[in-house]
Amino acid sequence: MAAGASLIAQLQAIVGREHVLAAPADLVSYSYDAAPGNVMPSCVVLPRTAEEVSRILVLANDLNVPVIPRGSGTNLSGGTIPVEGALILATSRFDRILEINEGNLSATAEPGVLLGDFHAAVEARRLFYPPDPASARIASLGGTVAEGAGGLRCVKYGTTKDYILGLEVVLPTGEVIQTGGVTVKNRSGYDLTHLMVGSEGTLGVVTRITCRLVPLPAAHQTCMAAYDSIQRAAETVSAIIRRRIVPAALEMMDHHSILAVEAFRPSGLPRDAEAVLLIEVDGAPAEVESDFKLVLEACREGGATSVRVAQDEAEREVLWGARRAHYPALSRAAPTVLVEDMTVPRESLPEMVARVREAARRRGLELGLAAHAGDGNIHPDILTDQRDPELMARSHALLEDFIRAAIDLKGTLTGEHGVGSLKAPYLPWLYGEAGVGALRAIKRALDPNNILNPGKVLV
Ligand SMILES: Cc1cc2nc3c(=O)[nH]c(=O)nc-3n(C[C@H](O)[C@H](O)[C@H](O)COP(=O)(O)OP(=O)(O)OC[C@H]3O[C@@H](n4cnc5c(N)ncnc54)[C@H](O)[C@@H]3O)c2cc1C
Repeated sequence: MAAGASLIAQLQAIVGREHVLAAPADLVSYSYDAAPGNVMPSCVVLPRTAEEVSRILVLANDLNVPVIPRGSGTNLSGGTIPVEGALILATSRFDRILEINEGNLSATAEPGVLLGDFHAAVEARRLFYPPDPASARIASLGGTVAEGAGGLRCVKYGTTKDYILGLEVVLPTGEVIQTGGVTVKNRSGYDLTHLMVGSEGTLGVVTRITCRLVPLPAAHQTCMAAYDSIQRAAETVSAIIRRRIVPAALEMMDHHSILAVEAFRPSGLPRDAEAVLLIEVDGAPAEVESDFKLVLEACREGGATSVRVAQDEAEREVLWGARRAHYPALSRAAPTVLVEDMTVPRESLPEMVARVREAARRRGLELGLAAHAGDGNIHPDILTDQRDPELMARSHALLEDFIRAAIDLKGTLTGEHGVGSLKAPYLPWLYGEAGVGALRAIKRALDPNNILNPGKVLV
């Protein structure tokens, strides 16, 4: 539904004429994200300051217009797909890194900075911001904060929530608040910072981010181990963890994924393998050397048919590039990909792998399976086609099988991609009505008119 002339004029008065998009051709690319589905927004507004965001939200409350905050739109859970009549509030003009503080090991930046650019800026000072979703080159810092993103390096370093010290947030009713601060410790009041991290644009618009940095690791070693059984690969993951090694990254890809990646971006993955593990250890040189020896030992004892050690930085990049290409490669292999994100306790990974494969076989559906295996975070991505209603119904039934299996194994329905609109109906399965009721009470208190990203997280 197109926005009325009066709304457009009032938005233009706030941000300037050129920062409101309303022509249908300009709106199309804001009508979808990386999850299936699309709805045209009524218009797109591109503010530059927290004060402008505040005025937009006050106006939206007055006119009862839903507002969808949007970074790069790479989320996989439908978090930025508009609802009918909604306007998109895009953060791309908030694009400055404001400070990298080497004395405090912290940085402050605006939400529209691309995560890859942020990584490069801090790494140029030999500092490190570990959160590393495979979409890092294109995802916005604000989007990863609102999504509580994870990625490849969580097994050792944790997720986005472990790095955020403070935020500037515009509440749904327009008040600009500061949560947390710049200190490592902070016990002043309720922890609103970590309420906002992962709130998926439903509780406020993040306009400034202060995060913790750590020293850039001095050394790393990377390898790829191939297996003729995915179960053996999954069991090796537990064997590595049991040896008290915490790799920087411990990833798995199944046969289907290997073939899809090789067709999309040939990287020398073994096409005949049933699964590969990609493993990196980092830290001080001596520690890296001894940990890497134990990793290679665990891979061989776990039945690896071959192990390839990256000989230089270029080969390391090829291996990680292959893992990052997993989702784009699958998108080439099927018209629609339902990207799944269940997480189970790490020792239950082999059992979860067995259950998702058996469920897919029973439903007659194909999977491309990858996992941030060291975290117990499994991506059994369903290859499907949203133009075929029967196939989609079966795909959703399979998704429900996965969620039931994860909950049964004491896991959770999303480890990093968020609830969005895709998983919102299943939240009560995890927390029960009372648990979801507590989430609703928070949403009502902060957003009494339900204008900020309605229908996401909570239905
Ligand atoms: C190829 C690919 C690989 C991926 N790999 C991973 C991975 O390994 N690990 C992982 O965790 N995720 C992964 N993701 C998904 C990941 O969630 C997103 O890439 C990222 O976290 C979102 O950033 P974005 O800028 O695209 O945010 P968007 O998609 O624009 O928004 C995400 C959510 O945050 C909200 N939002 C955005 N900006 C703000 C703001 N400033 N204030 C308040 N709310 C806001 C939106 O409303 C939405 O709900 C992948 C996605 C792709 C496409």
